[in-house]
Amino acid sequence: MRPATNSSPTAGLLCFKLTNATIEFIGEAIPIEFRPNLRARGSEVHASTFLHRRLIILDSALLRNRPERERILAHEIFHFVWWKAPAIRAAYADRIHQEFASGIKGEMGWSAEWRKLELKPADLKHHTRRFRDYLCESFCDSSACLLLRISRHPEITLPARARRARRNFFEAYVAGRRLKI
Ligand SMILES: [Zn+2]
Repeated sequence: MRPATNSSPTAGLLCFKLTNATIEFIGEAIPIEFRPNLRARGSEVHASTFLHRRLIILDSALLRNRPERERILAHEIFHFVWWKAPAIRAAYADRIHQEFASGIKGEMGWSAEWRKLELKPADLKHHTRRFRDYLCESFCDSSACLLLRISRHPEITLPARARRARRNFFEAYVAGRRLKI
């Protein structure tokens, strides 16, 4: 993947290179910028995405780590999918409620995992902002790994059976689709 510098509108191109073909992302190009020492709310982060401004900023350290750069860029692109796809949001919420009902621990990325660890039963019951934020990160972490066929990663802690169920979800709602971003 050729790294984008400043605001070159190459996201569409990058998406196709990332996908290995099965997903078509529909939408205006999303500029990608690389900046050093990226932080959000005081904490180090790998990326920041601005949906309305249509901008993805990645930490420059990712320029030296292609597998992580692709995983994180895919995660950020799925934020746009989540934003534009109410049917996916509703179906994914059902999937995750089933996981909680089965007592399944773990996640497919740290971004989702730390939010999952902070959830209280009332968050699920009332579909709070905290739960919705977790759902979004869980969808983006899972979809990035499934799209890129990453089955082993230090941040993947979800048990195999639950990963298979998420793959089924991914194949039903994401893979092979034309998705608005
Ligand atoms: Zn995210």
